[in-house]
Amino acid sequence: METNAQTARRSLATEAVHAGREDLARLGLHAPPLDLSTTYPSYDSRAEAARIDEFATTGARPEGPPVYSRLDNPTTARFETALARLEGTESAVAFASGMAALTATLLVRGAMGLRHVVAVRPLYGCSDHLLGSGLLGTEVTWVDPAGIADAIRPDTGLVMIESPANPTLAEIDLRAAAHSCGEVPLLVDNTFATPVLQRPAESGARLVLHSATKYLGGHGDVLGGIVACDEDFARKLRQVRFATGGVLHPLAAYLLLRGLSTLPVRVRAASASAAELARRLADDPRVERVHYPRIGGAMVAFETAGDPHEVIGAVRLITPAVSLGSVDSLIQHPASISHRIVAEGDRHSSGVSDRLLRMSVGLEDVDDLWADLDQALSAGSPLTAAPASAPVAAPRTSAARAAARAAAGN
Ligand code: PLP
Repeated sequence: METNAQTARRSLATEAVHAGREDLARLGLHAPPLDLSTTYPSYDSRAEAARIDEFATTGARPEGPPVYSRLDNPTTARFETALARLEGTESAVAFASGMAALTATLLVRGAMGLRHVVAVRPLYGCSDHLLGSGLLGTEVTWVDPAGIADAIRPDTGLVMIESPANPTLAEIDLRAAAHSCGEVPLLVDNTFATPVLQRPAESGARLVLHSATKYLGGHGDVLGGIVACDEDFARKLRQVRFATGGVLHPLAAYLLLRGLSTLPVRVRAASASAAELARRLADDPRVERVHYPRIGGAMVAFETAGDPHEVIGAVRLITPAVSLGSVDSLIQHPASISHRIVAEGDRHSSGVSDRLLRMSVGLEDVDDLWADLDQALSAGSPLTAAPASAPVAAPRTSAARAAARAAAGN
């Protein structure tokens, strides 16, 4: 697996603080401007009409002054340019959330009559639900990585994987997966690794998706999503985005561009703490199993010997909350929260045990984090049987599960 931006012209750390800011000197600015305009004056409506026609037919980023913010926004364009540079792709297209980004990708392929998706579990619970629920008319075949090639059909539009996966941190050999896909685009959700640890496009993935809500933003205060890809696919994504309206708000784009500049430093610091916590957890008798990716990263998952609900209930410094990738540490119980929408049998068969806790390690001092985990683990009373996935029974239908999770994150 690629571990850094070694093939880029400049190093990843340099790109992180400079990409998307190329025109600032010409504009006489040091910090990137925030453009909140929804519309832009047009004193030449023939020229503007031509730009709209060009966009409608090609999906190419319009040249010249912007027209309307659902079509094109300069602040969002900066974030897209920067992320494409970090992932080593030609283009990137930003959306209101990670789920909006996945939706647009499925719509692009669906519009071509390619509604079949091959996917490897586990995926983030809502991604699993979006593929499997039929909400977008998608039909999914779930396979192990070794079964990708055999599952591909003439109407397969996409192969989707996460590596490291949410929440088990299971890893997939990206190069082998891309090889198995043949001509079918491989979509890698790179939210957990970020381009700091892995650049899937260099291993043959045609589409690299992020919940920008997580590490790219990095401060737990922005919702966003982005797909890094070649310009041909980006044009189709822009057309879908314009037609369906799932655009990223420019203020979110501004914060995401700012977040990118510290991404390498944040990910490396949090990863060092996560690796240390994974070591201490692995030596602890109150923990049955620890999951930590070979490529590293700031996520660690572990199965508790005691009741995981009681452990979560006892943390004081770490916040018991969904989401991940923030400067502060978060912990959650996937079977009850992020993956509650996935049927119990599917959760269990993909390694999401009812004892599993998933922790997103932040930038606090590692000894303070360990002190909190240490006291919280002692609060988990010994279990003889598997704990319930949640204090209340999970709704049975996917619609009811969707409603139950409507207010939840990930
Ligand atoms: N992909 C992964 C791996 C996630 O963890 C999440 C959310 O947690 C998403 C996608 C969806 O992103 P968002 O919440 O920004 O829609």
